[in-house]
Amino acid sequence: MRTAHLAPEDLPRAAEILVSGGLVAFPTETVYGLGADARNDRAVGGVFAAKGRPADNPLIVHVRSAEEAQEIAVLDRRAQALTGRFWPGPLTLVLVARTGVSSVARAGLSTVAVRCPDHPLALALLRMAGCPIAAPSANRSGRPSPTSAPDVFEELDGRIDAVLDGGTCRIGVESTVVDATGEHVTLLRPGGLPREDIEEVAGAVLSPSREPGQPKSPGLRHRHYAPSVPVLVVNPGADAVLRALYDHPAASVLCTVETAAEIASAIPGLRLLTIGRRGDAGTAARRLFGALRELERYRPEAIIAESVAEDAVGLAVMDRLRRAAAASATDH
Ligand code: AMP
Ligand code: MG
Repeated sequence: MRTAHLAPEDLPRAAEILVSGGLVAFPTETVYGLGADARNDRAVGGVFAAKGRPADNPLIVHVRSAEEAQEIAVLDRRAQALTGRFWPGPLTLVLVARTGVSSVARAGLSTVAVRCPDHPLALALLRMAGCPIAAPSANRSGRPSPTSAPDVFEELDGRIDAVLDGGTCRIGVESTVVDATGEHVTLLRPGGLPREDIEEVAGAVLSPSREPGQPKSPGLRHRHYAPSVPVLVVNPGADAVLRALYDHPAASVLCTVETAAEIASAIPGLRLLTIGRRGDAGTAARRLFGALRELERYRPEAIIAESVAEDAVGLAVMDRLRRAAAASATDH
């Protein structure tokens, strides 16, 4: 299959491909999604096949508004308060499903994950296609998420019908996923919307229980966000990075601007990228996946990544780094 590169003015073509059962990657404010008509079992099955995604890991269904969400899921007052405050935006709600979404997209569960993306092209595509769009991140399963159209081509060229090019994603990490079916809201995946913001509307947001048995988010079982070389996460500061470089002299480094200033001159020829200034979690999130992709191209022995503070979106950045490190610890 030849994958078409579509410009924003080709939006009608992208919508046409979707409604006829094809697969279109499109930009959102978080990362690029791989979209299919959420009502169509066969199209949704194609998303799992193109990504190599395990069938037991359900997809997020994108909608154009809270009203459309009401058609496919049950929104109680708390859910309506959350959508009223944060949609369109990087918040995904797991809710009790009504009919209308393929059970393939829900991985057979009685719940469905829904979100309204805050991106003009994504919203225009949803309106023009006129259907909910099931869309996980547009990467091969287990890989870092794509934050630009070239990233999507690197992952899925020849496996999907088209990529709608909307430039680089503003937030750079995936949406925050919460389970809103229980008495308390539970955080299933930290993401672009800080937990603290959700708590202002919904009260305490609980962490998923560590009880044995089924994890509440099926995706937590799977390998995630890993580049093709091992990732080592170290404490903040130049000392920890230098110690890791001593053990892995052929490694590349992903660190803050401040740490880079201390170590770059000490080690000539070091391949290093920065994730912004210390304390700037927004820049770290925006640069994270692109930087991991760029560094893996040099085929270093490892990528040494400096930790960032876990407040606001920094929690999501550290979650992705730890999962990338855990995946490389078992795979390499
Ligand atoms: P992705 O589409 O790759 O950004 O991942 C979506 C995340 O939402 C995964 O971690 C899924 O396991 C999670 N998710 C989607 N639907 C549900 C659901 N019905 N219940 C719990 N978690 C879900
Ligand atoms: Mg993903």
